[in-house]
Amino acid sequence: MPSVHLTTHVPDIATETEASGLVDRFGRRLNYLRISLTDVCNLRCVYCMPEKMTFRPRRELMSDEELRLIVRMMVELGITKIRLTGGEPTVRPNLVGLVRYMAQQEGLQDLVMTTNGILLPQLAEPLARAGLKRVNISVDTLNPHKFRQITRWGDLDAVWAGVEAAEAAGLRPIKINAVVTRGFNDDEVADLARLTLEREWQVRFIELMPFGSEAEFAQSAVVTSEETRRLIEAKLGPLQEMPGYDGRDPARPYRLPGARGTVGFISTISEPFCSACNRLRLTADGKLRLCLLRDGEFDLLTPLRAGVGYDELKQQVLAAAYEKPWGHGLPDGAIPTNRIMSQIGG
Ligand code: SAM
Ligand code: SF4
Repeated sequence: MPSVHLTTHVPDIATETEASGLVDRFGRRLNYLRISLTDVCNLRCVYCMPEKMTFRPRRELMSDEELRLIVRMMVELGITKIRLTGGEPTVRPNLVGLVRYMAQQEGLQDLVMTTNGILLPQLAEPLARAGLKRVNISVDTLNPHKFRQITRWGDLDAVWAGVEAAEAAGLRPIKINAVVTRGFNDDEVADLARLTLEREWQVRFIELMPFGSEAEFAQSAVVTSEETRRLIEAKLGPLQEMPGYDGRDPARPYRLPGARGTVGFISTISEPFCSACNRLRLTADGKLRLCLLRDGEFDLLTPLRAGVGYDELKQQVLAAAYEKPWGHGLPDGAIPTNRIMSQIGG
């Protein structure tokens, strides 16, 4: 597995940058950490993982204690926003306790989660009380039969119950994530966008990305944001661009005339937003991944388990973050090979 090699001048860089937080060599400030809490999921979406998926043994994953230490360190280094993801984050044991710990970290301003929603009926309320602020819930289709096809066995009603529970618990505004997959739900994008007429949600259409063993499928079924937008406008009329977009959210917001909610497009493939990237990712097995779509990672868990000191590890994180690559290499045919999406979390 490719790893990030620290160059010899790194200690200087680390010392220089500690005061100013996590910054890469291009001057991008990295203040957003996406944490995959587990690679396990209670669904098997066709674009995300194979049906017969083998999950990592528990001992290879960060324990709660290790995770808490890394979170504390990352917030001290300037992380102000954390998104919990998976696999499916809600299947991680002691999720509520972990959220409570994270929410108490001084300096953390935003704590949110991306989930398939299925376990939210029992978890939304305790998570909100523990300090979770909002959720993004994945809903690719309004058709229960198709939902079962895409997720291999999921029950769409359970997801809608999760959406309702999240709203009732105050985890708002809700964002709905829909990956647009040719032949599965490209005929439904207008119906999904129509949800925003009545609900104050943001429905976000995501371009399909290629990863490892699932790359071929993703490449054959990708629908660009431009095409999705045309499909929506053909049925519902022109989308109006929302004023005041500051470029930090990868989903540029639009509104259908008279709608209460908004529509967004995440165009990682057709319009990469790498120049504004402020993200780092932590995988469930304790690797700091520097770019969603590049294999380079820095192993935090091994040195932690080998007894490296807190301050030394912190310097290593600063140095690794400095090496964040400029952008992904999909236009040049560089597809990430070492992990599939469920092992990173999006
Ligand atoms: N299980 C949770 C869920 O589905 O929301 C969180 C993890 S999932 C990997 C995070 C997001 O990535 C979801 O919105 C999912 O639809 C999206 N996703 C999964 N595989 C993808 C792929 N190959 N390309 C683009 N998005 C993908
Ligand atoms: Fe599970 Fe989310 Fe991947 Fe679907 S997209 S298989 S719900 S991790």
